[in-house]
Amino acid sequence: HLRNALQDAQFTLYLQPKVDMRSGTVVGAEALVRWLHPERGVLTPGEFLPMIEGTELDIVFGQWVVETALLQLEWLQAHGMPMPLSINISAQHLQQDGFAHWLEQCMARHPTVPGHLVEIEITESAALYDLQAVTHTLQALRALGFSISLDDFGTGYSSLTYLRRLPMDTLKIDQSFVHGMMDDAGDLAIVQGVIGLARSFGYRVIAEGVETVDQGQMLTQMGCHLAQGYHIARPMPLGEFVAWSRHWQCPPEWKR
Ligand code: C2E
Ligand code: MG
Ligand code: MG
Repeated sequence: HLRNALQDAQFTLYLQPKVDMRSGTVVGAEALVRWLHPERGVLTPGEFLPMIEGTELDIVFGQWVVETALLQLEWLQAHGMPMPLSINISAQHLQQDGFAHWLEQCMARHPTVPGHLVEIEITESAALYDLQAVTHTLQALRALGFSISLDDFGTGYSSLTYLRRLPMDTLKIDQSFVHGMMDDAGDLAIVQGVIGLARSFGYRVIAEGVETVDQGQMLTQMGCHLAQGYHIARPMPLGEFVAWSRHWQCPPEWKR
């Protein structure tokens, strides 16, 4: 079914905005896949990605995601909204021989899209087997102008090793810590710790899963100004995203 769905163009990428809570501006978006299933409606990745992971479809699917995200970037640019788009890349795809070269060829097919508008998100919980090879790939990607973000930071077994070894631009605080930090001292300490680590390494830090005004306020007080989450907006189709970006108002509490 998944193979047919790819052929029948049943997948689409929704966009979830990333904002700067201090300035109240939209700073980019993350591309998140959805399966527009003819009978079951809109399916989220949790319902089908695990069936793709580790199979030969993983790569074909990942290539479709990148190609579609680049088309969306082109479209945004053509509509006067050039903004960075984050693309989630599976560990298997990233570790595929020649990944950086393949991505360079993709970019050549979209000459109007500058590399600095592309951010690659790799999840920290994914198994990266050969850190030296991954380091080379990430270095090559950064040389092309892409930025690299470590997603779900703190949820894997190798957070600090990855942090120390992999070339990186952004740490993404996992939503489980953001959800817990308002009433769990341990989660709060982890959020504070990740913000401090990012600062020490000179990386940007963004929080995912911001669902309330209070969470956003707490994050800005701790020095994390970038955020993504349902309180700002849920992932939405490209056309809706454009209209949303023009009208979004930042909660006044965040700007103070
Ligand atoms: P992720 O990359 O960590 O993306 C964030 C997930 O959190 C998204 O779930 C998003 O809808 C959800 N989210 C955002 N804000 C909130 C919030 O305030 N509250 C809650 N409860 N959830 C929030 P989604 O879209 O279901 O995606 C799940 C995961 O699937 C992603 O986690 C990513 O690891 C993977 N994924 C999604 N799209 C792709 C893709 O195109 N390629 C690959 N390889 N993986 C993808
Ligand atoms: Mg992500
Ligand atoms: Mg995440």
